[in-house]
Amino acid sequence: MNEEKQTPERVRCLILGGGPAGYTAAIYAARAGLEPVVYEGPQPGGQLMLTTDVENYPGYPEGVQGPQMMQDFRKQAERMGADLRYGMATEVDFSGPPHKVIIDKTKEIVADVVIIATGATAKKLGLESEERLSGKGVSYCAVCDGFFFKGQEVAVIGGGDTACEDALYLSRICPTVHMLVRRDQMRASKVMQKRVFNTPNIKVHWNTVVEEFLGENELEGIKARNVKTGETFILPVKGAFIAIGHKPNSEIFKGWVEMDEDGYIKTTPGRTFTNVEGVFAAGDVQDKIYRQAVTAAATGCMAALDADRYLAAKEAEESEEVEAQQEGNA
Ligand code: NDP
Repeated sequence: MNEEKQTPERVRCLILGGGPAGYTAAIYAARAGLEPVVYEGPQPGGQLMLTTDVENYPGYPEGVQGPQMMQDFRKQAERMGADLRYGMATEVDFSGPPHKVIIDKTKEIVADVVIIATGATAKKLGLESEERLSGKGVSYCAVCDGFFFKGQEVAVIGGGDTACEDALYLSRICPTVHMLVRRDQMRASKVMQKRVFNTPNIKVHWNTVVEEFLGENELEGIKARNVKTGETFILPVKGAFIAIGHKPNSEIFKGWVEMDEDGYIKTTPGRTFTNVEGVFAAGDVQDKIYRQAVTAAATGCMAALDADRYLAAKEAEESEEVEAQQEGNA
């Protein structure tokens, strides 16, 4: 920790992350009187800031732009009284409660409860053309963006369960789905692979990598390469869905909070409790299956309710102890 730290700030409820989970937790926590302080992280709004149209979030019958939706969430949290701040957690000490969190390496916060909603980041291939065409045909979420390519030829890059799920989803709305798998086998579960192989309009290209995404302002095709033969070929796709995994933003909690082998924070099934008393987790940092804005928001709500009930029970316990002590002294 930084030697020149300021005096710690004491808060009841600290929320880490400014995506659908964090803002929803903030709305509920503020309304419950927990006076939440929210640190929004390096990209306020989270992954939705990288998407365009969102058509599957209930309540927006005409659809909404991802950044606009996050602005709406943010405004609502602010109106409820949440204290939204720029900055990110850089270190934690969860030996409490209360728990310590260092923000931007300098500021120390001491909180009765912490809600971790730091999200996940989609892994990228690392190509310049991928950056340029991201949101213009290159996407990291088939369920979010697939609909915009209905009736068109598309590609999925990856060979895991997510890639298989994406390919199957797209095969129902697109005439041809090319699946680019970099090895001669998939990492996906056998059952998912079987479903892919049994779907006639999914064409698997083994040992194949993306050399370049083609097009200036919108995707016009993929230049692919077979790594075994060296042969390159063009796939005339309008949409490309990269599904090579996500990385939960959980690095700083390692050693404190229990995680699975991929770094996703473990929560009690159906709840948001972590293994640490007073620390809750919501959204994509604890969800490798659904990863939707609506599921993140839902678990954000759950985390605030769990935190509120935890605090209420703890405070009731403490006041009972005080009463018992007073009675004993009388
Ligand atoms: P995975 O890590 O399981 O798979 C990633 C895939 O992308 C692998 O085929 C990998 O290839 C490939 N890949 C990685 N980097 C590159 C690259 N640079 N270029 C090309 N290909 C690349 O990620 P998933 O998101 O698929 O799944 C994550 C976890 O979530 C898994 O445990 C999965 O089982 C689970 N999951 C479960 C679902 C379900 O139960 N319905 C649905 C979705 C996910 P390689 O094998 O060569 O490394």
